[in-house]
Formats: sequence, structure tokens, C-alpha cells
Amino acid sequence: MQTGKIGVTTENIFPIIKKFLYSDHEIFLRELISNAVDATQKLKTMASVGDYKGDVGETTIQVFVDKEKKTITVSDKGIGMTKEELDKYLNQIAFSSANDFLDKYKDQSNSIIGHFGLGFYSSFMVSEKVEVFSQSYQEGSQAVKWSCDGSPEFTLDDIEKDSRGTDVILYIDEESKDFLEESKIEQLLKKYCKFLPVEIAFGKEKEWKDGKMVETGKDKLINNTKPAWTQKPADLTDEDYKKFYHELYPASEEPLFNIHLNVDYPFKLTGILYFPKIKSNIEIHRNKIQLYCNQVFVTDSVEGIVPEFLTLLHGVIDSPDIPLNVSRSYLQSDSNVKKISSHITKKVADRLSDIFKNNREEFEKKWDNLKLFIEYGMITEEKFYEKAAKFALFKNTDDKYFTFEDYENLIKDNQTDRKKSLIYLYSTNKTDQFTYIEKARNKGYDVLLMDGQLDVHLISHLESKLKDSRFVRVDSDVVDKLIHKEDPKASKLSERQQEDLKSVFSIKVKSKEMYNVVMESMDETDTPVIITQSEFMRRMKEMSQTGGGMNFYGELPDSYNLVVNPNHNLIISISEELQNEKSSELAASNAEINKIKEEIDFIEKEHKKMKEDEISQVEKDDLDKMRSELGVAESSRKDILEAYGSGNKKVKQLIDLALLSNNLLKGEDLSTFVKRSVELL
Ligand code: ADP
Repeated sequence: MQTGKIGVTTENIFPIIKKFLYSDHEIFLRELISNAVDATQKLKTMASVGDYKGDVGETTIQVFVDKEKKTITVSDKGIGMTKEELDKYLNQIAFSSANDFLDKYKDQSNSIIGHFGLGFYSSFMVSEKVEVFSQSYQEGSQAVKWSCDGSPEFTLDDIEKDSRGTDVILYIDEESKDFLEESKIEQLLKKYCKFLPVEIAFGKEKEWKDGKMVETGKDKLINNTKPAWTQKPADLTDEDYKKFYHELYPASEEPLFNIHLNVDYPFKLTGILYFPKIKSNIEIHRNKIQLYCNQVFVTDSVEGIVPEFLTLLHGVIDSPDIPLNVSRSYLQSDSNVKKISSHITKKVADRLSDIFKNNREEFEKKWDNLKLFIEYGMITEEKFYEKAAKFALFKNTDDKYFTFEDYENLIKDNQTDRKKSLIYLYSTNKTDQFTYIEKARNKGYDVLLMDGQLDVHLISHLESKLKDSRFVRVDSDVVDKLIHKEDPKASKLSERQQEDLKSVFSIKVKSKEMYNVVMESMDETDTPVIITQSEFMRRMKEMSQTGGGMNFYGELPDSYNLVVNPNHNLIISISEELQNEKSSELAASNAEINKIKEEIDFIEKEHKKMKEDEISQVEKDDLDKMRSELGVAESSRKDILEAYGSGNKKVKQLIDLALLSNNLLKGEDLSTFVKRSVELL
């Protein structure tokens, strides 16, 4: 028997290993099985080139749990280790690499992600003692046993072992006894080893016999040794891809389509990404992309490795070139990772572009489910935008699809305003905005449907991208003003009459919305009163709701314009009735206001001729007094007009009709409207 001391200065490294990797103890199993897989594959390679002349035989890696003895055993039939190799690999190299690892990362233990490189020694995170029994493939070599109880002391003995390969036995410590549950080990094997290239067996298959489940004696295999991503695309059918999808995510809806990634240079990467159906909620990335390293599962949080919009995809990425034992922030600045990320972005864009070019019909059919993903990419990744702008689609309110270019050509002639801006009209809700859409259509305009979760952000993005273009929601103004083609129409009412009507129509509505009355000269056949909402304000509010960082706007109540058309006969008649019924009161207030105004005008003109310091305080005070008198006179005129308006059924009926066609008439206001309508009939 040989005894020795593992060659490092640290007195006892194992407590450190436990402490630093506390949260991720479970990776010990992944490490041991990876070693077993490597040893098996090395043997197969040697056999294939003739360096091993013996019989390779069956090579399944066996995992056993013995709850009573408190052991976990990983047993392989790989190349094994000779006494010298065991001494070299486990005592010197492995130990010092574990030590280096801890030295390097002890300041950022929280951000270590993969913990690769710790290898064999991670077994001490869960064990009080570890034994290794190994028989090298080399002819005539002596089988050996290595044993270590967690102190730097180890023993190395000659033993009898009847088969080639290595058994690693972990004596699980008290704190880690959860790992002695079969279900726990099975869960870990399924998580990390599901796609390893060498068969792994754990327990026995069970079958239903005589009314109960019984073991069959057949090994239960954990893994699929040839997952789809490791095969050639030419050898795979659509069905194979779908089958693999369900292997990754059992009980998931069928994906839309997939991309098979296969890169050799300047880095190695393989994988399959799937486009899921994303209908509305952007938070749904339940099925996360899984990252593998040579078929060993590493993580399913790929943020930082792929651009954020790609995290909406599903599938696997396998690359031995992604540095795994480093922090996230380091990862993001790693040049390989950057290359991988932009490569995947490009591949995804190319694939979409191919489908678009080769099967436009199919692409259109799937557009509604793809849209969120593509828009997210266009808004957040410049490179993706450049490609996607050629295949992204607009859908109009007739459910027709257009490329950006086709759509521009469609609307160019009829929707360019007098300042040469191209106006894209859009609706966010076909039912609510029905009347506006109808009006725009009657004018020969086309209206887009922009009802997606990211559309408001996309619109802003497109406005910064498309030259001389603006997006205007159909209900943001009266139809004649959506696209200003000519100079405004003349009004049939005077300035004064229009001012008065503004007050007449400024009735308080019992709701949290704010209404601002504006006079807008339109055709006499146009609607007398209509509600519009300012494009700018509404968009700011919407952006703040979907996280555009504009909280200030989000706090404001919804504000609308109540647009009155002074050229409509009903409005003209209301104005005439007002002038008749209130003639003396209005004339009196007119006279008063005019008189004060004249006086103010006169004084202001005088003051203009003087220097600031020549005007006495008394004179200044007088002017202020007159101005406040004017204010009082004007507001009492307003009171007369508002009182007139609120007593006028026609006015109220017109406002309610406008609110009604905008879905804004609710509750008590709505029932009052119905009653009034009956009365008027
Ligand atoms: P790594 O696997 O990263 O090289 P480890 O500490 O896990 O580091 O292992 C150190 C070395 O020990 C391996 O490179 C390998 O040569 C040897 N080794 C470990 N486990 C086995 C095994 N089951 N069969 C044969 N050799 C092994």
C-alpha cells in the first residue's frame, strides 16, 4: 500500500470547495458522469484507430444508489487509469486545477455559472470519503484503488478488479443525504445527462404485471445518445424535429418552425432553435433555450449569451467554445460569445427570410404568431432590423399583409401630405375605432391594424427609420386633418361666435377623462361633433404602460379633444339660437369686455413709449386691476354660455353621440342619454 499527501499548500481544500460552491452541489454528478463519458469515448476512439485491440463490448455507464451504505457509485467501462495515471490525474493535476479554480474565482463565487473545471473534486462537496477503483485498458496493468477522506491524505492500493474501467464510489455525508433519494438522482441525470453520447443506466425498467408495477431486469436508460442537433439536417425530417422538440419540452404546443445551427469556424457551435407560437404575452418564455457543452447540460439561462429577443425562442445550443466558469459580465464582453450571438441573430434572420421568399403564403399564415418576436428583434437589434425590414409585414384592417416596401407604394400617392410626409394611418382596435376607419376608407385611405403588444414601440422605431414618414392613429383627428393635404377650410362662423360655442360645449362629463373643446372647420356634411385623442399624448401613455420609461405620462388622465364643426348646419343653428335667446345678456357683456379691452390697449400702448423705470407703481397697479376686471367679465360671460349649454338638449345630445361612438359614454351618462333621446323623439 502507498500513502501520500496531495501536493498542495492549502491544509484542507474541501471545506473551501463546499463553501464556495454551496448553492450548486448537485453538479458533482454531472462532473463524474462527464469523466466516465470521456473515458468511454477515448476507448472507442482508440479501438477505431487500432490502438486498442481488445473487445470494446457493451459500454453503458451504470449509476447506483445504496441508501443503506449511503453511497453513490458511477461505474464506466472506459480506458481506466493505471496506478501512475491515478496518481498523476487525481493527486496532482486534478487537485491543483481545483485549487487554481478556487483561487481565481473566490471573489466572485456568486457569479460563477458553469463550475466546469472543478471536475472530479466536486465530489467532495457531498462526500465524506471518495474511493476510485480502476483497471486500465492497457494489457497486463494492475488494478488500483484510490481512497481519500477529505483530508489532503490519500491511499493507493493494488486490488483485484475483473473488468476494465473505473468505479467511483461516493460516501455521502450527512448534510447531503438528499442525494441518496433515487428520485433525486434520476431528476439530476435527466437534467444534466439527457443527451450524453454514451448510454447511461440508472435502475431497472418497470412494467405493469398482475395489477402492480414490477422491475423487469432491463436497465433503465436515461439518455438519448444521438439528439437531433448532433445529426445532419439532411438526415432529419420535419417529424424528427418535432419529436425532438417534445423530447425537450414534453406537453408543449407544436412550434412554428426550426433552425438547425451548425458552425465550425471561428468557433464550434451546433444546435436547433424553434420558433414557438407567441400570441400576446411577452413574459412567456416558459420553455427556455438550453445550453449544452459537448452534450452536457450547462444552464437554461442564456441571457447574455444570446440577444434578449432570441430568449423568446426555444431549443438547444451546444458549444464547447463558450467559457463556462466565468461571470456573466465577463461572458458578455467575451469576443467568442459576441460572435456566437451575432451569428445566431444572423441565422435566425436568414431562416425567416428564406421562408418568406420560398413560401410567402405560409409566412403570412404564421405572421400573427411570429410578429411579437420579430418586432422585438427589430426594436432591440440593429443588425436584425436591417434584415427583417425586408420580410416584416404590415397587416391592414382588411386582414391583408404587405411588406414595408409594398405598403409604401400602396399609400404613396394618396397619403402624402402637403409637406411631403408619408402618413401611415393605423388603428389599434377595429371595433372601437370602427367609425374612424370607415371615414378614412371613404376617403380612399388605407388603415393598418397595429394591435400588437409592441406596436406602439415599433411605430416610434419606424418613424426614426423610414424617411419622411409619420404614423397617425385614425381617431387622433378629424379625417380631413389626419393628412393635411390642403390649407384649412374657411369657417362660416366668426371668431367671436366660435369662442362662444367653445364655452357652450364645455359641459362637464362625469368621468375621469379630460375633454378639451376645439373648433375645427370641416365640410358641412361632416360630423357636427367628434372626439379625437392627441397622437402624441396617447402614445406616450401607451409607451409608459409597456415600460418605455415614461412614467410621467402614465400618471396623466386620458385627455381627448371634443371637436366641433362650425360649418355644420346644426352647429350654426345652435349658434343662431344662442345669439337670439341671450342677445341682451351677451350684448351687455360684450360691451363691458370691449370697453375694458380698449382701456387696457390704450394704457399698454402708452407704456410701450416709456422706459420701464418711468412707469409709476400706481400706474402698474391700475393696469393689473383692469386685467383682473377683464378676467372677471370674461368668466361671467363664460358662465352665461356654459349655463346655456348645459340647459340645451341639442348640445348635450350632440356631445353624447360623439362620446357614444367612441365607447366613452358610460354608466349614469349613458342612461341619461337614452332617456333624453326618447324625449326628443
Ligand atoms: P477534467 O475532467 O476536467 O480533466 P477531472 O478532475 O474531472 O478534470 O479529472 C482529471 C483527470 O482524471 C481526467 O482528465 C482524466 O484523465 C482522469 N479521469 C477522471 N475520471 C476518470 C474516469 N472515470 N476514467 C478514466 N480517467 C478518469
